[in-house]
Amino acid sequence: MDTASLRQRIDRIVHTHSSVFAASISKYGFSCARCGWCCRENFKIRITKDISRPSNAISVFPGDIRRIMKGTGLHWDEIAEPDIYSCLDDGKNIRAIGWILRRSDKDECIFYGSEGCNIYEWRPLICRCYPFLMDEQDVEIIHCEEAKSRIEARSAKQIALLVKRYELQKLRNYIGIISQLGEKLRLADLHPLPDGYDGELIVCDGERSIPVKVSIRVGKYGRIQ
Ligand code: SF4
Ligand code: SF4
Repeated sequence: MDTASLRQRIDRIVHTHSSVFAASISKYGFSCARCGWCCRENFKIRITKDISRPSNAISVFPGDIRRIMKGTGLHWDEIAEPDIYSCLDDGKNIRAIGWILRRSDKDECIFYGSEGCNIYEWRPLICRCYPFLMDEQDVEIIHCEEAKSRIEARSAKQIALLVKRYELQKLRNYIGIISQLGEKLRLADLHPLPDGYDGELIVCDGERSIPVKVSIRVGKYGRIQ
């Protein structure tokens, strides 16, 4: 991952009209049944050969967190926790790459309630795009209970714009993180924190580097208390 190739990718996406992505989304088809399946831990997402993460480890940008704070009045650490699945350990410091939404003891996003998403109006950009994300060239669909349903052209266009916006924000965020970490950032070196980890780490989120105390309960991997 280097800044020059990220900038090239940004340039390519900026100059790809969203109608290209809308056409792919229409071919897949989709209609959200608000079932909440994607807000709970249901499957593992493989990132590299050695790294996978639970499906409810939902990456959020600092801007997402600020929007939820504004909408709900919650504090930053009531909304997000360090991304403990993407950490770099240089022997001196552990750095987590960004934030994920907090999760409940039931392995659900903390904002998932009996009526569905409690912060629907302010939900993160990634939740607005789900189940669509970009692969190298085009939009791909990930797990969803309602994939293959018919989708209206207007909805496909809206999702295409969101997916494009998300990908651009993600790439710009990577550039911010690279400027914080420089050569230290190699995807192959990222690891989850060990079960039972209790200590401090530094979250690098592309905007700031913030020390955070983390305590992961043994036997309940991934839950930050
Ligand atoms: S995106 Fe799919 S899995 Fe998620 S709530 Fe909608 S229908 Fe359910
Ligand atoms: S923020 Fe809302 S839509 Fe996103 S994972 Fe949580 S409950 Fe689901």
